[in-house]
Amino acid sequence: MSATTDPIPVRALNQVTYCPRLYYLQYVDCVMPVNEHVEGGLFDHRRVDSGDLKNKTRTDRGTATSRGVALSSEVLGISGVLDVIEEKNGEQYPVETKHGKAPHDDDGKPTVWDNDAVQLCAQALLMEEAFGQPVPRGYQFHAGSRERVPLEFTDALRQKTRAAITRCRELQVLDAPPEPLPAELRHRCFGCSLASVCQPEEILYQIGHPNPADVDTSSAKTPPDVRLVIPKSDNGAVLYLQEPGSSVGKRSEHLVIKKDGKEMNRVPLHAVRQVVVCGNVQVSTQALETMAENEIGVSYVTGHGRFIGSFVPAPAKNVSLREAQFRKFSDPAASLELSKAVVRAKLANQRTLLMRTLRGEEEARGSHEPAAKGMYGLLAGLDRLTSVESVLGTEGQGAALYFGEFKRFLKQPPTGKGFDFTTRNRRPPRDPVNAVLSFAYAMLAKDCFAAVCTVGFDPYKGFFHQGRHGKPSFALDLMEEFRPVIADSVVLTLINNELLAPADFIIWRDACNLTDAGRKAFFAAYEQRKCTEVTHPVYGYRMSYARMLEVQARMLAAFVRGEIPTYTGFMVR
Ligand code: SF4
Repeated sequence: MSATTDPIPVRALNQVTYCPRLYYLQYVDCVMPVNEHVEGGLFDHRRVDSGDLKNKTRTDRGTATSRGVALSSEVLGISGVLDVIEEKNGEQYPVETKHGKAPHDDDGKPTVWDNDAVQLCAQALLMEEAFGQPVPRGYQFHAGSRERVPLEFTDALRQKTRAAITRCRELQVLDAPPEPLPAELRHRCFGCSLASVCQPEEILYQIGHPNPADVDTSSAKTPPDVRLVIPKSDNGAVLYLQEPGSSVGKRSEHLVIKKDGKEMNRVPLHAVRQVVVCGNVQVSTQALETMAENEIGVSYVTGHGRFIGSFVPAPAKNVSLREAQFRKFSDPAASLELSKAVVRAKLANQRTLLMRTLRGEEEARGSHEPAAKGMYGLLAGLDRLTSVESVLGTEGQGAALYFGEFKRFLKQPPTGKGFDFTTRNRRPPRDPVNAVLSFAYAMLAKDCFAAVCTVGFDPYKGFFHQGRHGKPSFALDLMEEFRPVIADSVVLTLINNELLAPADFIIWRDACNLTDAGRKAFFAAYEQRKCTEVTHPVYGYRMSYARMLEVQARMLAAFVRGEIPTYTGFMVR
């Protein structure tokens, strides 16, 4: 990658001093998530960012104050909009507002964080060049403690600021972000707005810090030394819209669902993470636009469960990840390795589900089942395979063994009027069990599609499902390891707990579909499953299945960019 000649924003110097990886993710990969710290900062800046006050100077009791002053320097290669420049007694100085309280030095005096000092010093360098007079000091206003702290721009600080500019330029040419912060600085990660994107502990664990050899993985009770710095689950709900003839519009900060002119529901935008439109529902342009602005993806599925596509916010700007994806997935050796990883996880999860479901009272694990033994054999032979086609063959054999026993997974109610299953069929599914299986896979496909898009991948370039024209191959690749544990599990819950009845299906010609009521029951069970927390097999901490999809997609990104040596598929313990 080549360095850009664009000036570096002075706030980027703050980030690179705080953490070089944070700078890379934010300014090279252009990832911009917002957490409460960032929102707090925006709130504290509302006065200086006000359009009415920008570039205007007011004088009060001998101090002239100019707000929102834009400065740029070709010589330094930096630019910035300065919160405030004050002038008093012929001396000019910058004043920067920061969210939070002032830190204190050893003598208990309020001071300025290192990274903030670099940002303020960069402002002083810009002022000196623009106005031709020295700027020996500035002030930082800490909104949290309402303290105004002076800062001297010493030679050492100026040198540090210039070094930060050089560091930004060095990072701009890298194909992948630098390593996460070392252990002694890890406390910074807990307030970092990009922790869920960066996954610092997980990356370091994978590259041997702490050394995996030091971790006793022989005991399931001993988790690796990975501390969770990312949320365990996603905020916001998934809004399913399936009422035929209804429409969705936007009113203020809400989505409003109407039918026949009557309001049926009103949902605040901040409470929604994703919208799923199923069948004949109209979504207004204004609603779509607002959802895109708020990074709320909209997925469309047909009434019989075919995933049509998604309206997603503009793709992530980290083109380097997509370039690396195309390079890596065009490499037969890398594609083979990844294919084995996802099929290993899928087979292992299918086998676990099969053993758990079929185990008898006298048999604790169900491993005596011939299908379980057959799948064990397939897993054992996976490492010896030398082509993606042969991995596909093994995956197909595993599916035959698994679905050969699926009928036995279904409990029969006392009435004897339960569901039957003979074989997997689709396009269209011809019986209720296949109908709900197909629907579950379509829902999972749209969630995997959303996960790979969020990370910045191209969902159509896969490593396992290669060359399937018009199919989101990469989303389907990611989906493999989750099919048994999310989709199949939801189907079994719905049928074995009698949450679905024969009346929840409609058969027309050869096709069997869920009714509206059946889909409603499905959506509830599916979302509940996604909220279920499970232990990550590599990192040892718990998170929801919904979060796990994104974590695995991010680990694939780390593998693709060469940050970690291997990718491990998700396997239930
Ligand atoms: S989570 Fe930690 S290592 Fe990652 S970008 Fe943020 S501060 Fe840096």
